[in-house]
Amino acid sequence: MSATQRAGWSRLPLRAAAFVVLTCTTILGVSGWREWAARDAVLKGAETEMANVARSLTQHAEDSLDLLDSGVVGVVSRLEMDGTGPTTIAKLGTVQEARKKAIARIHSLAIIDDKGNWLTSPGTIGSTFSDDAFFRYHQLSPKREAYVGGPVKSLLDGEWVVPLSRRFNKQDGSFGGVVLATISSKYLSHFYEQFEIGRNSSVALTHGDGLIVARYPSNETFVGRSVADKPLFRNPSLQRPSGAYHFKSPLDGAERVSFFKRSNRYPFFLLATVDKDELLAPWRAAAISRMLYVLALVMLIAIIGGVLVRQLHRGQHMAVALVEKEAHFRLLAEGSSDMVTRIGLDERLRYVSPSSVRIVGWRPNQLIGTPALAGINPEDLPEVQAIVDAMKRGEKEEARVTYRNSHRQKGEVWLESTMRVTRKDSGRIDGVVAISRDITEHKKLETRLETLAIEDSLTGLANRRRFDERLKEEWARAYRDRSSLGLLMIDVDHFKAYNDEYGHPAGDACLRRIAKIIAAEAQRAGDLAARYGGEEFAVLLPNIDTAGCALVGERIRSAIHEAGLIHRTNPAAGCVTASVGGATCRPALERTAGVASLVEAADRALYAAKDAGRDHLVMSGEVTNLLPRASGQ
Ligand code: GH3
Ligand code: MG
Ligand code: MG
Repeated sequence: MSATQRAGWSRLPLRAAAFVVLTCTTILGVSGWREWAARDAVLKGAETEMANVARSLTQHAEDSLDLLDSGVVGVVSRLEMDGTGPTTIAKLGTVQEARKKAIARIHSLAIIDDKGNWLTSPGTIGSTFSDDAFFRYHQLSPKREAYVGGPVKSLLDGEWVVPLSRRFNKQDGSFGGVVLATISSKYLSHFYEQFEIGRNSSVALTHGDGLIVARYPSNETFVGRSVADKPLFRNPSLQRPSGAYHFKSPLDGAERVSFFKRSNRYPFFLLATVDKDELLAPWRAAAISRMLYVLALVMLIAIIGGVLVRQLHRGQHMAVALVEKEAHFRLLAEGSSDMVTRIGLDERLRYVSPSSVRIVGWRPNQLIGTPALAGINPEDLPEVQAIVDAMKRGEKEEARVTYRNSHRQKGEVWLESTMRVTRKDSGRIDGVVAISRDITEHKKLETRLETLAIEDSLTGLANRRRFDERLKEEWARAYRDRSSLGLLMIDVDHFKAYNDEYGHPAGDACLRRIAKIIAAEAQRAGDLAARYGGEEFAVLLPNIDTAGCALVGERIRSAIHEAGLIHRTNPAAGCVTASVGGATCRPALERTAGVASLVEAADRALYAAKDAGRDHLVMSGEVTNLLPRASGQ
């Protein structure tokens, strides 16, 4: 793993956490934005709806005034044609009454003379309109069109009404009076009642001078009140034919939205006001429940994400710890001069440390995957295989084994392996770890030491210790097998004189020659030629009878003689000769004093041979003088 990879890897939980946070905020953001858009749509919808209401109510107000005006126009033309005589007035009065009855929105119709006196409705005689705004307007202005005034209280019944008036002229063209028609504020308010608007909402028809003409609800409270100080009058941006504006009610602090529509024919405008809270209440309820679902979802994502991020973090910690552990293991395994291997249950190598190059001559990558026991010497394989099998079965936890293994260059090496079972976390055995070292040198030394312990260094024959051991073993075997055992004792003649004559090193060389001759004659399996001490040799001949033993003894004696090693101070032969004493016995059948008796018998025979003039073979059975000979003879 490279440093940049590792850095990226360690930032993984952070990235995952960022991803979770991003997902959550995106979901929240998108949902919030959608809800806000829905809210806007609700407001837009309400604006359209209220604009329609305002438009149709404005139209209604205009239609009502038109209706009123058409009546007024009719009366004006009659008056101008027929004058204001009592008959005409009476006639007109009747027609007006009928008209008033037929058309509900007409509150009253009145004809006023040029002095401001009421010509119709004699019940109100005494009251004059001479100071009223509409009368003065017509009196002063020759204009013939209708004049629409602000709301006033009717002189007839005290109800709030909106007056529409027109001037009529006398025959000579001078001011003749005014025809006045009124429409009841109550009528308009009742009409507005039909429209379903919210609880905190209102519809109001207002005169251009700021006085409320009709309102729903609470008409009685508001009619005649001035709203001239309100934004609709003061705000220059709202001086357009129609539109909407938002404001905060100074009374209850509630947010409201108003929609206005100005009449382009009469000095009126209609104002429809809705409570924003009320308008948005259904949306709010739905949005809250939807947002709660979204919140629950986001929380779920956050929780699951959090758990996953934590696990990722933990997993990463564990992985780092594992990598460290493995690094330590590798440091130990790869820094070791011993070969560390890991063997799977299929007995194939899973891991091999670099020391394999030194130990077996193969590189780890050449060994991994190959059978672990392939290189073992077939003689040692069964033992190693048995140990591995026992470990795999769980019968053995640890083992140490020494075996021969092939080496790529050196042919064969001795290895000592310490093996140990490895287990998974679950406790199941999953293989064996072996630490192997080359003990070839050690083995060689051991063999050499063993040899040294049993070999005579000068002649290479078995030494005295070895001879004594083998004698005991062969004696026991012969006893068991009821077989015979033969022994030859060989002593070089006049050897002291040889040394004196030719020197000690030559004496050594002579002894080596004689040892070779003796070894060559002791060739049967089980025969043992040994240097007994000084210039004295012994040959152990298992399973041999006296004749056979004598034969071998004679062969040795003659072979030494035949070798013709010059020995001037050996007067009899002139060459090196040896005397041989032989003895055989059957330990199981004879009464003997053990091994010592055989050696003694052979020794006596040897000295008998010396006595006989040297360069002789004497078998123990031929010795007549059974007394031990005196030393130095
Ligand atoms: P005999 O015929 O009676 O056996 O006479 P001998 O001289 O051989 O007998 P003796 O026992 O008197 O002498 C043995 C000699 O063998 C004495 C010693 O110098 C010699 N000798 C013993 N061991 C060695 C050896 O390892 N090397 C050499 N060069 N001489 C040895
Ligand atoms: Mg001797
Ligand atoms: Mg001798």
